[in-house]
Amino acid sequence: MRIDYKLLSAASKTFGFPLSEAQAELLDGFFALVTEANEKFNLTALTDADSFTVKHLVDSLAGERFFPLNAKACDIGAGAGFPCVPLAVVRPDVDFIALDSTEKKIVFVNSAVRELGIDNVHGKCARAEDCSDLSALFDVVCARAVASLPVLLELSFPLLKKGGFFVAYKTDISEAETARNALKTLSGVLKDLFSFSLPNGDSRCIMCFEKQKDTPKAYPRRYSLIKKNPL
Ligand code: SAM
Repeated sequence: MRIDYKLLSAASKTFGFPLSEAQAELLDGFFALVTEANEKFNLTALTDADSFTVKHLVDSLAGERFFPLNAKACDIGAGAGFPCVPLAVVRPDVDFIALDSTEKKIVFVNSAVRELGIDNVHGKCARAEDCSDLSALFDVVCARAVASLPVLLELSFPLLKKGGFFVAYKTDISEAETARNALKTLSGVLKDLFSFSLPNGDSRCIMCFEKQKDTPKAYPRRYSLIKKNPL
C-alpha cells in the first residue's frame, strides 16, 4: 500500500470511527487512479502518497461525523472526488451524488468508482445552481475548496430537505462571520463545527449549517449574480 495506513487509521480513530484494512486498500486504489489520470490531465497538485494521505484523505474523512445514517448526500464541486469518495468508502450507508461542472472530472469519478466497486457515488456533470431537478432532495450537502461561504450557502440550501445540513470544509471559523446575511435570508443556522489540525499541523474547521425553512423560490440566482452580489 502506498498511502500511509497507520497514519490514516490513527486519524480516523481520533475522528471517532474505525478504518479497516479493506477500506484503506480502496483508498490506496483511488490514489493510484488519481495519480494515473493526473498524467493525462490535471486533477490535483498533490501526487505524492504522503501529501495525498494527509491533505486529501484525512481532511475528507474528518467530516464523517456530519452524515446521518443512510443519508442522501451531494458533494458540490467534487472535482476528482473530494470529499465524497473517501467518505463513501468509510460510509457505505450514505449515497452520494458527486456534482461538478467540469465534465472530465465527472468522467474520472464515474470510472474510478466503477473500477473500485464503490457503488454509492454517482457523478453528475452540472452546475449546482442549474440543478432544479435535485431541489430539496438531500439530507446533507457538502463542499470543499469550491467558493466562499455565502456563495456555497446559496448553492447548497435549495438542494437540501428542510432540516438538512450543509457541511462546509474550511480552514477556520472566521468565514462564518461573512455568512450572517446569507444565513438570515436562507433561514440557516450554524448547528455544529469541528476544528482540528491535520497531521502536518495545518488548521481546519468543518462547519455544519442546518436549513430550518423551505428556501425562497428566488434562490439560487444566476451564477453571475451570485458572484457579483453574494448574499
Ligand atoms: N472539492 C474538490 C477538492 O476538494 O479537491 C475539488 C475542488 S476544485 C478547487 C473546485 C471544483 O468546483 C472544480 O472542479 C469546479 O469545476 C467545481 N465548481 C465550481 N463551481 C461550481 C458550481 N457552481 N457547480 C458545480 N461545480 C462547481
